[in-house]
Amino acid sequence: MQKRLLLTPGPTMVPPEVASAEAQPIIHHRAPEFDPLFMRIQEGLQYVFQTKNPVLLLTSSGSGAMECALTGVCSPGDKIICVEGGKFGERWREIGKAFGMNVISEAIEWGTAVTPQRIEELLSQNPDAKAVCVTHCETSTGVLTDIKAIAEVVAKTDALFLVDAVSSLGAEEIRTDEWNIDIVVTGSQKALMLPPGLAFVSVSKRAQERAAQSKTPAYYFSMKAYLKNLEKKTTPYTPAVSLILALDKALEMIRKEGMENIWARHAQLSKAIQAGCRAMGLTIFSQSPSHVVTPVKVPAGIDGGAIPKMLRDQYGVTITGGQEKLKGKIFRIATLGYATAFDATTGICALELALKKLGHKFQEGAGIAAALKVLAE
Ligand SMILES: *Cc1c(COP(=O)(O)O)cnc(C)c1O
Repeated sequence: MQKRLLLTPGPTMVPPEVASAEAQPIIHHRAPEFDPLFMRIQEGLQYVFQTKNPVLLLTSSGSGAMECALTGVCSPGDKIICVEGGKFGERWREIGKAFGMNVISEAIEWGTAVTPQRIEELLSQNPDAKAVCVTHCETSTGVLTDIKAIAEVVAKTDALFLVDAVSSLGAEEIRTDEWNIDIVVTGSQKALMLPPGLAFVSVSKRAQERAAQSKTPAYYFSMKAYLKNLEKKTTPYTPAVSLILALDKALEMIRKEGMENIWARHAQLSKAIQAGCRAMGLTIFSQSPSHVVTPVKVPAGIDGGAIPKMLRDQYGVTITGGQEKLKGKIFRIATLGYATAFDATTGICALELALKKLGHKFQEGAGIAAALKVLAE
């Protein structure tokens, strides 16, 4: 018998309360009972995004929100600066290219983060840039980018600042309005503790003005349509009503815990994972690892694919390997969303057992002792 534990950066585990909220009888999205639910959700989302601006609700995965965001505020031919330091950064470029935008691609070494100084340079070389697109937590490498400092640089120019926070919103500190971020996008299946299927886009005043001028052809993901319908407390098309019922519950849990406490919990759990790994003689992959997902170098002489496979097959613990150029080189352990100290310790224990079986030499019990030390602080 196995109990399944998802220590993955999405989809993540869903609390039983949220899963049973999703199973409630369906309600009609054009009936009066939908209005208070929709407004409550709007307020809850504004709290999570730390914004007073509208937060669009889409029925899609996170990438749909990225498409809505970029096509919503930029037009074909517009110059946009996209930072790519991993698999998700590439997505901004790919969306921009797909819609005929003039993409200035800033490819950085995987595992590193772009600096505000570099963004300043790029903006002074490209004063006509209409947008700067970055990834907050590059989930493929585990790296966190300092979006607060970058927002300060971008706010001095005419460019809009678009942040992919699909894995980080609800895990890492993000203060959308205070930090001057025009657009933040996220998805339901990561820190928000929901199944996949909903995505969200916050839109600043400046971005709303730009949306009125966008000439990019769009239909299902038309930002104009979502903004217009939000004024009428609804979405342009049938939303995933059951997921909205689940979201209502998840937002209630988030409010109860409080954003500051949620950020602190993610920080503590990821520190416990990092300490546990270091104590087993492992190296953390990045200089600036996020609290979303901890990237760990595969020790020499061990097959990189064997670690996640053994954890999953023998112990029921799902972690993820590296993607693309990091395949076989790193593995990633996430304590994201519905995760507690005991999920982190289970992960470290399973990793100890697997590494021992795979022949990695380390002091037995050192990993869990180090993790517990952090958790006791
Ligand atoms: C998960 C993720 C996405 C979106 O992926 P979907 O599969 O479309 O939900 C985008 N960016 C980042 C950083 C992610 O972690």
